[in-house]
Amino acid sequence: LSKLIDKYNRRIDYLRLSVTDRCNLRCIYCMPPEGLVKLHHDEILSYEELLRFTGLALEMGISKVRITGGEPLVRKNLDEFIANLNRLVKGRALSLTTNGILLFDMAKDLKRAGIIRLNISIDSLDPEVYNRITRIGNLNVVLKGLERALELGFNPVKINVVPLKGINEDMSDFIHLLREMPVHVRFIELMPISLDGQELIPITRPELEENLKQLVDYKEIAHVEGTGPSVDYHVKGAKGTLGFISPLSNHFCESCNRLRLTSEGRLLTCLFSKEYTDIRGILRSNASDHEVKGAILRALAKKPKGKNMAGRNLQMSKIGG
Ligand code: SAM
Ligand code: SF4
Repeated sequence: LSKLIDKYNRRIDYLRLSVTDRCNLRCIYCMPPEGLVKLHHDEILSYEELLRFTGLALEMGISKVRITGGEPLVRKNLDEFIANLNRLVKGRALSLTTNGILLFDMAKDLKRAGIIRLNISIDSLDPEVYNRITRIGNLNVVLKGLERALELGFNPVKINVVPLKGINEDMSDFIHLLREMPVHVRFIELMPISLDGQELIPITRPELEENLKQLVDYKEIAHVEGTGPSVDYHVKGAKGTLGFISPLSNHFCESCNRLRLTSEGRLLTCLFSKEYTDIRGILRSNASDHEVKGAILRALAKKPKGKNMAGRNLQMSKIGG
């Protein structure tokens, strides 16, 4: 296997695929209330195109693939796509990030198709707060999906939480949850995005740690197995763990191992960069495998050393987080 290594000596082995820009929620930090302009069906990559691209990336040294969105579970025939993807991935890590709304119904098919590693985004365990953040989400439905996933043996099951000042500051419910269930709760720092007129304030890592110290007696342990730049902690006697992902701190970039493919086929080498490679255009111009791989290498050669947030309008639902 050749290895993808960039000029800053970072080994790029992780590919995030956004399979749709659509979503059945409207989280306040991700989308305006009316949602975003939807891409036309022809504008998003077909499953065949996603499989071809991923197959080539795997040949080049990618060893972890995550399916994300928008909300991946709203795309039709996702389980069939996953089964095909799983054949390509062949034992390397395949994972899925979902808001969990459709999980209860789909968990079995997803498991059968080959997903074992699952991230579920749940920003609060208080139904009203959850509804305020997601605007239209029903927490109960998601919790049923979570239970189902645990019963079916998904592992690890991680829960993504984006703490927002004055909104979901109380973390005690999550601590209770991870004591009782084998779930890995990870607090993710809000990334600044421009959504007209909204003032959302992140809770920083030191603030979070201070809050948590009031709630638990914890000591650091080794990284929980898995992908991602999180720092994880074990809580004494608990079945699960908790962790922090702080994209705004520097180490995040130093150890960045990611490529991202948006639902419209744009290859991003940095979440915060405006530059992209139009993979869709390349795939649809009858490019040979060699040419597609060349485009990946050229994109990688331009992967920035660190982030430059100037003028960036993140659209997480297209990029996939
Ligand atoms: N819809 C799925 C979900 O919510 O899990 C997958 C896509 S979503 C864009 C992936 C992750 O990005 C979610 O955990 C979400 O909380 C996170 N996210 C979205 N906007 C964000 C922001 N501005 N800052 C930090 N995380 C964000
Ligand atoms: Fe949808 Fe995920 Fe964005 Fe929430 S964070 S609006 S669930 S894509």
